[in-house]
Amino acid sequence: MKKIAIIGGGASGLLCAIFCAKESSKVEIFEQNQRCAKKILVSGNGRCNITNTNISQDDFFSDNSSFVNDSLNHFGFKEFEKFALSVGLLLDIKDDGRVYPLSNEAKSVAKILQEYAKSLGVIFHTDTKITDIKGMMNKYDSVVVATGSEAGTHLGGNSDGQEFAKVYGHNIVQTYPSLVQFHLDSNVAKKMSGAKVDGEVTLFLNHKKDSTTSGDILFTNYGISGFAILDISQRASVALMNFEHVSISINLVPSFTSQKLSAHILKIAQNMPKFTIIDILVGLIPIKIATNLVEELELSLALTAQNLNTKMAKKIANLMTNWRFEVSDTHGFRHAEVSGGGVDTSEVNSKTMESLKQKNLYFCGEVLDVVGKRGGYNFAFAWASGRAVARAICVK
Ligand SMILES: Cc1cc2nc3c(=O)[nH]c(=O)nc-3n(C[C@H](O)[C@H](O)[C@H](O)COP(=O)(O)OP(=O)(O)OC[C@H]3O[C@@H](n4cnc5c(N)ncnc54)[C@H](O)[C@@H]3O)c2cc1C
Repeated sequence: MKKIAIIGGGASGLLCAIFCAKESSKVEIFEQNQRCAKKILVSGNGRCNITNTNISQDDFFSDNSSFVNDSLNHFGFKEFEKFALSVGLLLDIKDDGRVYPLSNEAKSVAKILQEYAKSLGVIFHTDTKITDIKGMMNKYDSVVVATGSEAGTHLGGNSDGQEFAKVYGHNIVQTYPSLVQFHLDSNVAKKMSGAKVDGEVTLFLNHKKDSTTSGDILFTNYGISGFAILDISQRASVALMNFEHVSISINLVPSFTSQKLSAHILKIAQNMPKFTIIDILVGLIPIKIATNLVEELELSLALTAQNLNTKMAKKIANLMTNWRFEVSDTHGFRHAEVSGGGVDTSEVNSKTMESLKQKNLYFCGEVLDVVGKRGGYNFAFAWASGRAVARAICVK
């Protein structure tokens, strides 16, 4: 019976353990935390966006973007769905392709994976941090590094896997936080802390327009958060790492053009002559944002509709549809959902996930230089790469 050690009891390690144990290998999981699957438990705001029905290499960032294809072709959505159904983990497929457990609870995913692994005889060593990769390689037939990334340091995120890889001469692609919030160089943004809009964000890199996303935008005491921000964070984080100038433009009311918005403001001013400018704006945006926006334009908060002229309405509309902020940093690894960079995939076999530098040493999940977009893609790769390792070890 083959002796397999899996370092890391997260998504990729658990899936790998299950498929190895099904082939009657002796599988041991070593997990530094008191319990496994901490990131699964907090994922998707406790709901776990477990995968996506539409997955392609375009959903991932890596120095070697086609690396994901072999594992995802073998264990993509259909194969994951079949596995999930076989263990009683029913899925809720949303119209946009995102997939959640039917229970709507990440706990179900963590529990079912662990209980299934236990039932197959997988041995769990929790509270056990591995530091000596060579010692593990000497003791076991195969060693799987499933240690994840530096993201979410309070959940156990670290760079141990990269250190293990370096022992065998692997190159590490520089890591950076992704799916992460931004620090803004702006006092007015801080003053709007707690205010939220469903808006549009455009990212500028070195003053050139890069990309636009829409969704939740939340001002915070350090800068800005929300799904729209997370969606542009990968490109922004790489640019910051390369010392590029990064800024964003926020459109607080994407359903209006600037011209239509100023016409709207003037029309309401005409209909409601006793209104202040704030009374007009709160029909469109949260009051905290409205007051700060008016102050930013050095207009009086007491400005009445009667005294509002076309020039003022245009200035207000322009700022509401194109409010520029300088991004000074990301909110860091601790708050990031994932990390980009990692073990260089050009030195790992994309079919088997075996190191090309050291036989019987495997990598799966986020420790590798593969990071997905928001939408269940990071778990999709964790499952696919964990499955690929199990297939490779068990057919050897
Ligand atoms: C807040 C948050 C929300 C997220 N939401 C989603 C989502 O909804 N959908 C999605 O697709 N992705 C989501 N992700 C990303 C997803 O959780 C990860 O991509 C995925 O867990 C990676 O799996 P992994 O097995 O590579 O690493 P992990 O799941 O991080 O597992 C690695 C394990 O290795 C352990 N470990 C590390 N070093 C050692 C060591 N030296 N010895 C022993 N054990 C060690 C760690 O404690 C950890 O348990 C989210 C992440 C976070 C932080």
